Amino acid sequence: MDQSRIAELRDAPVPPARHLIGGAAVAASDGREMEVCSPLNGAVLTTMAKGTRADADQAIAAARRAFDSGVWANLAPAARKAVLLKWAALIEEHALEIAVLGVRENGTEIGMALKAEPLSAAGTIRYYAESIDKLYGEIAPTAPGTLGLVHREPAGVVGAIVPWNFPLMIGAWKLGPALAAGCSVVLKPAETASLTLLRIAELALDAGVPPGVLNVVTGPGAEVGAAIAESMDVDVLVFTGSGPTGRRLLEASARSNLKRVYLELGGKSPNIVFADAPDLDEAVKVTANGIFRNAGQVCIAGSRLLVERSIHDEFVEKLAAFTQTMKVGDPLDPDTTCGAVNSQAQLDRNLAFVEEARAQGRTIVTGGGRILQDTGGYYMAPTVITGVQSDDRLAREEVFGPVLAVQAFDTEDDAVNLANGTDYGLAAAVWTANLGRAHRMVRRIRAGLVHVNTYGGSDLSVPLGGVKQSGNGHDKSPHAFDKYLDLKTAWIKL
Ligand code: ADP
Repeated sequence: MDQSRIAELRDAPVPPARHLIGGAAVAASDGREMEVCSPLNGAVLTTMAKGTRADADQAIAAARRAFDSGVWANLAPAARKAVLLKWAALIEEHALEIAVLGVRENGTEIGMALKAEPLSAAGTIRYYAESIDKLYGEIAPTAPGTLGLVHREPAGVVGAIVPWNFPLMIGAWKLGPALAAGCSVVLKPAETASLTLLRIAELALDAGVPPGVLNVVTGPGAEVGAAIAESMDVDVLVFTGSGPTGRRLLEASARSNLKRVYLELGGKSPNIVFADAPDLDEAVKVTANGIFRNAGQVCIAGSRLLVERSIHDEFVEKLAAFTQTMKVGDPLDPDTTCGAVNSQAQLDRNLAFVEEARAQGRTIVTGGGRILQDTGGYYMAPTVITGVQSDDRLAREEVFGPVLAVQAFDTEDDAVNLANGTDYGLAAAVWTANLGRAHRMVRRIRAGLVHVNTYGGSDLSVPLGGVKQSGNGHDKSPHAFDKYLDLKTAWIKL
């Protein structure tokens, strides 16, 4: 990474942000703005349009017009592919500038941000661009006197509501397949992570995505997001965020046009270490990174460590020692392994979970508090808490911060019961050298993604989605197209 460029970019002024609607930068209809604060120092970075319901409606109308005109949806797939490949190249060209802007807004470590944000987004867009001219329809196996053709058609106007932890990575998981499929999109970024999505949307225009095909409306979820969810003119709603918001979106769909709603709602993912794990030191390191990178603000974070009782004390001791070597602080320092918490509100939430555990008599083995307060930034020491009980809030609810809940288990059945004992089912991991046990556990754990002897790092070729209250539908892999392409049957008498 180019350190001097990072130093230049870290203090560069950030112009006020506007919505992108119909290809133009526009202010909120009532002129309101909101401050964008940096979690690195608590200072105001810039302002952005505080969107209204009217703004969301305007963006939806622009997306509808663009879709109905066929300017994008009716292009040959290979033509859409060419534009999207150009977009991916532009994002790569500006990757460092975009990554630093994102870090200043949301606090992710720069090394991770560069890879997981602009570069990952470019890779995702390229993957779906490359796929779209290789998707075929079907001919059904009918009797000779009839022909059953199955077409795949773009689903229409997509509303995409995304969170603040990895705005570009998660945004691209929606935008890549939606735009490749020929849909038009209204994107609503999170209040605390909008700037980089606006930036890549501008680059989409430069690449030749027609005005109105990709619109971005910033502002409060309860206004802009709610208007998208309640619209009669949005065909598909895709969302990554919290459970309570996910429920509201389903209700809004039921109250409006029954739009399809796909939800990714996080998890309380169990990371299960058996005594026969192939390499305990590796398991320690990956366990720590699996919860503490990006300050724990990762949907699939391994936030529960379930460890076999016979190695519990040894494992926790090693884990605490490794955790204390992690470098917490300025996310623009390339040596930092645990950056800033996104906002004061999130920091307060993390600390409240720790205080509750302390009051319940659980053991804070390491961390447990705010640090580096003199910087004005929102930093928290990576925290390991043992003795957690299954009905503690810490064992059941997503913290979304650098807080690891540890429980001991005795048998494989115990491990399965603990693992499956929450409302969530997003991710999990099993550490064992026993191949039979590894496969048994993969089958018995109710989650969309089960790692074996690793945590995280799966690539775009595999689907990501939850079961139970972690949601439905899949991002990544060719399966993501299912959300954005409708099947249509032509039944023909010959
Ligand atoms: P998080 O805890 O990750 O902030 P949220 O579900 O609150 O989770 O936020 C995820 C996204 O949902 C953000 O873009 C936010 O603005 C949006 N959002 C929040 N509340 C609503 C709502 N009532 N309707 C639609 N979108 C919302």
